[in-house]
Amino acid sequence: MYKEIISSLTQHRKTIFYRACQIGLMLPALLFVAGNGLTGAATGVGAPEIRPVVAPLPIAVPTSQPIVSFRIAAPLAAPLAAPLAAPLVAAPAEETTTDTPAIADAASIALPNQATMEEAEESDVSTMGFPQIAVAVPQTPDLEPIEYLAEPGDDRAEEPVPVVNMLGQDLAPGVLHHLTWAASQSFSGTDIPTPILVAYGVNPGPTLCLIAAVHGDELNSIETVRRVMHELSMEKLNGIVIGVPIMNMQAFQHQSRYLDDRRDLNRYFPGNPNGSSASRIAHSFFNEVVRHCDGLVDLHTGSFYRTNLPQLRADLNNPQIVELTKGFGSTVILHSEGAQGTLRRAASDAGIPSVTLEAGEPLRVNVDAVEHSEKAIFTLLDTLAMYARHSLWGNPEPVYYQSRWVRANQGGILVSQVKLGRKISEGDLLGTVTDPITNKQTEITSPYDGRVIGMAVNQFVMPGFATFHVGLIAPVAQAGVENNEPAENEEMDPQD
Ligand SMILES: [Zn+2]
Repeated sequence: MYKEIISSLTQHRKTIFYRACQIGLMLPALLFVAGNGLTGAATGVGAPEIRPVVAPLPIAVPTSQPIVSFRIAAPLAAPLAAPLAAPLVAAPAEETTTDTPAIADAASIALPNQATMEEAEESDVSTMGFPQIAVAVPQTPDLEPIEYLAEPGDDRAEEPVPVVNMLGQDLAPGVLHHLTWAASQSFSGTDIPTPILVAYGVNPGPTLCLIAAVHGDELNSIETVRRVMHELSMEKLNGIVIGVPIMNMQAFQHQSRYLDDRRDLNRYFPGNPNGSSASRIAHSFFNEVVRHCDGLVDLHTGSFYRTNLPQLRADLNNPQIVELTKGFGSTVILHSEGAQGTLRRAASDAGIPSVTLEAGEPLRVNVDAVEHSEKAIFTLLDTLAMYARHSLWGNPEPVYYQSRWVRANQGGILVSQVKLGRKISEGDLLGTVTDPITNKQTEITSPYDGRVIGMAVNQFVMPGFATFHVGLIAPVAQAGVENNEPAENEEMDPQD
């Protein structure tokens, strides 16, 4: 009988030991409540065996709170997020960890290397670079709570994603938030409420911003952002996608590219709180929305009765932007630093890698252009490890470091003879212009080898109208050619 009891105790010694620990751990709390009168009696029960367990208790019990600060930072610093700028600043979590930061760090950092540490214990642990507090933890191999924590990854799925504050609201993960931004300056009548969609994934990751309709007549961008934002599943999303379907609501309401005062809002970023109306709107949007972004895609279309092959405009002198451009599948890339005052330029200058995605023409919804843009953005999200979706693309598109506009030299009815995306050679016929009075017809031929990446739709044109935008296959010296100035310098054909 005695031997059986001993045998049973031996077989279950771990469980008994653990239960004893639990009872023992409760006692100090009871004693604390009960006061000093019971101390002498209580410490007589099992106290000597319990004491080694009490020491690591602060690590074993709070499995979630102290790890918060460490786990948030790690995914944002991952290699895929590295090309992007500083992550969105998390609002201070209510469950602050400032009381036990050293313990949390020790538990998170040292325990995955516990085996290494134990092997090294006989030598000089302090030379291994482990936090000293971690050395004191795993003294007894029977401490089951410590073994649980020693298995990294067990609780990764439950790791908390921070609540962030944007536009005055605390945003929780796992939700597609509908926010409202309005320029907060006191020019009454112009601060029109503007919807901001924030897709906040359940998993940590960077923040990508998709901005549409900075020019109010560029409908393809609106439809693209709508499709992407409402396609996203929060359960699959790592990080945050901020989608602004109609950034320039004032211009949109008039189906116009410009603000009411005829200013082009996309020449006033990052804005000025004391400047013109456009400058104040730009300043408010830039500070309240854009500064949350780790990367930004500004969606546009061609302007003034012109259409664009889907293409990125990007400053390829900036390595971070080059990395960003690699994520858009087979999309033409045109190098351009971006005019001063454009959202793309201002955001990039503020350390937020940004590109412009041009597709189609204004005042139309070009389904092909929208589909390309939507696919390109999902490919980008996949490349950034924010959203898993595999897309099939054809051959890679080239990067054009230079482009030129070919202009009409006669006024009249323009009828193009090429399609968007066509590869062309010097001397190829691009279109005809016919005078409706004299019936005189002139041909527009290409002075370049290259590809038609943008073009005017058929319409009535005046002499000097920019008709065909050619991406150049190779840099060419065009001295003496009258109409070869870079597109960005053209007053009548703003590009971004
Ligand atoms: Zn535009």
